[in-house]
Amino acid sequence: MATNNDQIEKLIEGELSWQELRNDVLPDPKDQQRFETTRAVLQSSVDWDNPILVPLNDHLYVVGTDEGRKVKADCGAVLCDAGENWKMHTDVRVREDSDELEELYTTWMSPDEDWTFQLREFFCPNCYEQLDVEAVPAGYPILQKFDPDIDTFYEDWQDELAPDKR
Ligand SMILES: [Zn+2]
Repeated sequence: MATNNDQIEKLIEGELSWQELRNDVLPDPKDQQRFETTRAVLQSSVDWDNPILVPLNDHLYVVGTDEGRKVKADCGAVLCDAGENWKMHTDVRVREDSDELEELYTTWMSPDEDWTFQLREFFCPNCYEQLDVEAVPAGYPILQKFDPDIDTFYEDWQDELAPDKR
């Protein structure tokens, strides 16, 4: 059974029941159209026309543009080229002192200062939507969680060209 748009919208909004998720959205074998349905639902949720190639997280996408592939946010802000680390193009708040951490964690649940723990919050430089959070040791490099090979994904897994090459 093909996944319908309504189910994908509910999945994205976190409103899908377990029964629907297990039986309809994640059937075995997998619905071959599910990615394209998801892409269409995401495309209809944004106010701009650049084709979404892949979502990177809840607020960021790799899109096709006349200037090549870019990382673009929900609000329309273009952060960088798709090959760059988008986290380096955000506004970052680092929490590392106990009073900063205790705004989020209760006293005995926050990390010991000896751990040199950092909570890094990455914000859209245009609208200040929180784009990601990472909990890491101080000095840990700023890494992207997901660096997709878009053409291989489309050509080898979806059996078609990426939307910006069609
Ligand atoms: Zn934004």
